[in-house]
Amino acid sequence: MPLRSSRLARLLPAVLLVTACSAGAQPRPAALAPGDRPTLLVFVTVDQLGSDYLERYGGNLTGGLARLRDEGATWMRGRHDHAIAETAPGHASTMSGRFPVHTGIASNSQGVNTTASPLIGSDDLGASPFRFLGTTLYDWMASADPRTRALSVSRKDRGAILPIGRAKVDVYWYGSNGVFTTSRYYRDTLPGWVRAFNAQRAPQSFAGRVWTPLLPDDRYAEPDSNALEAGGRDYTFPHRLPTDPDGAASAIRDTPWIDSLTLAFALDGTRALGLGTVPGRTDLLAVSLSATDAVGHKYGPDSKEIHDQILRVDRYLGAFLDELEARVGRGRVIVALTADHGVAPLPEWRSPYYANHDAQRVDTRGAWRAAYAAMRAAGVDTSAVVDDDGFRVLDLTPFERRGVDPDAIASVWVNALRPLNGVLRAALLRDLARGDTITDDVARRWMHMLPVGGDVRAVVTLEPFGYFQPVTYATHGQLHDHDTQVPIIFWGPGIARGRRAGEARVVDMAPTLAALLGVRPLEALDGHALPLRP
Ligand SMILES: [Zn+2]
Repeated sequence: MPLRSSRLARLLPAVLLVTACSAGAQPRPAALAPGDRPTLLVFVTVDQLGSDYLERYGGNLTGGLARLRDEGATWMRGRHDHAIAETAPGHASTMSGRFPVHTGIASNSQGVNTTASPLIGSDDLGASPFRFLGTTLYDWMASADPRTRALSVSRKDRGAILPIGRAKVDVYWYGSNGVFTTSRYYRDTLPGWVRAFNAQRAPQSFAGRVWTPLLPDDRYAEPDSNALEAGGRDYTFPHRLPTDPDGAASAIRDTPWIDSLTLAFALDGTRALGLGTVPGRTDLLAVSLSATDAVGHKYGPDSKEIHDQILRVDRYLGAFLDELEARVGRGRVIVALTADHGVAPLPEWRSPYYANHDAQRVDTRGAWRAAYAAMRAAGVDTSAVVDDDGFRVLDLTPFERRGVDPDAIASVWVNALRPLNGVLRAALLRDLARGDTITDDVARRWMHMLPVGGDVRAVVTLEPFGYFQPVTYATHGQLHDHDTQVPIIFWGPGIARGRRAGEARVVDMAPTLAALLGVRPLEALDGHALPLRP
């Protein structure tokens, strides 16, 4: 019987997922007629752009974010329907149409970094999509038309790599030494246009630059005097970059300017690769803008700095879209926009924007002490497990040698966490798999995240707005709305503008775009096409 029930437990989530997919008999967006198809699809992911930013700063937004929000088919409250709301799993879901449990990308720590694929001209950690499973929208487009070209750019390795999946196309990100780079997974040398961009030393030219608010003071509701920001150092405007060029090129990653550099780099690449210039062919440009995440982590989602960052990325994006349209032609560009996750304020910051008055910090060290004690008592080396996305087993051998079920130890951890204030649910993954994934949001989001029977045996979900004890900066990573709710926007010819009230998930974006472009996904998806016309 144990065999049967554990097999059932493994099968159950898959069965539910398949049912959920086929049950999604929504009206599909009609494909654009071949003559009406765009020559360029631009997929923009703004890292940490929670839904509420587009509403909160409403009147101050006048650029690209405002245009997409107001002229696109807009789901203000789209969502990531998975549990660990982080960059890597978020980006891996944007263009694959699949949940992390199916892309193989469940967290940043188990993301793209590998010594097997060193970078070109940068000593940062190597990176590749070696963990990514399956295909993405780019693969489907290239399968339909092998002439399709793609470029993906980001400040972060994972933001550039994961939207594209495994394809060896033009994929670049910003190195901490101030150059755009790629890894040996993709190529052995940087192409001429990337070398030319780097040779301009644009990031280094920001040395000594001062960041002041874009608009007059009365346009910001936020006070600029909270010492919870930036660890209590340099938490009020103006913020100054180092005066030495190399220091500035590194520190610029935490300022709005990195978004303007990323977009300038994307435009150079668009030009060099001739994206969007061939009638009858649709190319793909993936842009991941990460300054919002960096500024959000450093100053928090209630800060004047994040307000100013959103205004700046709004303006940068507006100029970028203007230039793309001028280059490719009006009515030839389709834009999709979303975010990889949202954010929650520090629990100590009683926020005017977030209902976090009950927010608590949870200290998991006691649960780990209990688990280690149980392991020692059973004769299992405690180094066989690690605190990584939950109770992760690194090595089964010491368990097997002593005939110990890792889930029995994980249960000790779970039972120690359950009574703690601030813990919503602590559970073995195999027990979550028995939950009703239609009505139990917690169980469903974990089942969309991690495979039962994988390395992670048990997980803990905090109450909304909860933080783990040692975290000193604003962050994200929980399955609640503040971390998982993001805008989902489609903009361009053939797409009816207007706010949409229905449900939309980020995994629905790739199938929606595939349907619009008339290309066929190459595998079963978790998402379904959203209606883009009235
Ligand atoms: Zn982040």
